[in-house]
Amino acid sequence: ASLFGHVEPAPKDPILGVTEAFLADPSPDKVNVGVGAYRDDNGKPVVLDCVREAERRIAGNLNMEYLPMGGSIKMIEESLKLAYGEDSEFIKDKRIAAVQALSGTGACRLFADFQRRFLPDSQIYIPTPTWSNHHNIWRDAQVPQRTFTYYHPESRGLDFAGLMDDIKNAPNGSFFLLHACAHNPTGVDPTEEQWREISYQFKVKNHFPFFDMAYQGFASGDPERDARAIRIFLEDGHQIGCAQSYAKNMGLYGQRAGCLSILCEDEMQAVAVKSQLQQIARPMYSNPPVHGSLVVSIILNDPELKSLWLKEVKGMADRIIGMRKALRENLESLGSHLSWDHITNQIGMFCYSGMTPEQVDRLTNEYHIYMTRNGRISMAGVTTGNVAYLANAIHEVTK
Ligand code: PLP
Repeated sequence: ASLFGHVEPAPKDPILGVTEAFLADPSPDKVNVGVGAYRDDNGKPVVLDCVREAERRIAGNLNMEYLPMGGSIKMIEESLKLAYGEDSEFIKDKRIAAVQALSGTGACRLFADFQRRFLPDSQIYIPTPTWSNHHNIWRDAQVPQRTFTYYHPESRGLDFAGLMDDIKNAPNGSFFLLHACAHNPTGVDPTEEQWREISYQFKVKNHFPFFDMAYQGFASGDPERDARAIRIFLEDGHQIGCAQSYAKNMGLYGQRAGCLSILCEDEMQAVAVKSQLQQIARPMYSNPPVHGSLVVSIILNDPELKSLWLKEVKGMADRIIGMRKALRENLESLGSHLSWDHITNQIGMFCYSGMTPEQVDRLTNEYHIYMTRNGRISMAGVTTGNVAYLANAIHEVTK
């Protein structure tokens, strides 16, 4: 028997499989609203002008040496300012252990491995639903998972009462994974007032919040506003963890630029925690890639480039918000008897449409529209050119 004879093909990734099917479809009408990457109004991938300018400044000027194990010090500094606030006392007091990570996924995974190594009896509470890879990440890190209530299917909004109950009923000192903004896949975020109540209850229960912030700036168009949830927890005196990604908000998807940070009790603890995070990274990938981190630190360190970035990230968010409005208006003017308020109430890259897997199958088979079977529409794939076609198809399958 062959050595690898027992190896079965792995199940297809539910998100990446959609793109494969889309590419294989020869129809000229086809629409891809499955992929979680930004597209312009012509459906084309975008490289931001601030990124192009940063690349011009890098070109020919820098060597290709290894970064330190923890990554670029400059990039980490700028990332912390973005997440914790420009004048954060925690940064001044050096209380944050932070390393450059392989984008948001790598930051989550590093944290999960850290959790497993230093808090071997802990579990992670993950919202229902969530980005499917969260389950894979904590599974492979061998941290037991629990779920907590998040989404309310009837209202297509937040199940706040259920969420609060689950927070109260979890054992004291539990780890919770929270989406800092633009929850994936639902597009449903707590209000500021609700975040305050969540933070208060976390304090009562001594829970630890780990924020996955994959969309800072991409939700509202303003990175400061999108960091509100984290800032509320900081004001309330929590220790937190945070995974940051520049995939969406700088369009650096393939560069794998991100940051993992853990707010510690004091500087000494932060030094120890950082050294352990580096120790976990060393046998895994040794040190993170240099190019994306240079792009990020050049942009965030230069006032002119930073304001260009802020303008461009707002441009992406505004286009998506505009497409939400257009999709809803199109559905309403077709005379749909259903409520589509949730399309404009939800925020970020995705619209959790409420369509059933069977309805999604009809969209794909009859209209060549590709998306995940949970009814998640990537609003980034919606354009002025396809919104009417998409609305009509959705109307037909939901009649
Ligand atoms: N977390 C969430 C909620 C996401 O939606 C994503 C990307 O889709 C990520 C993390 C990680 O993305 P990346 O590893 O490309 O930064």
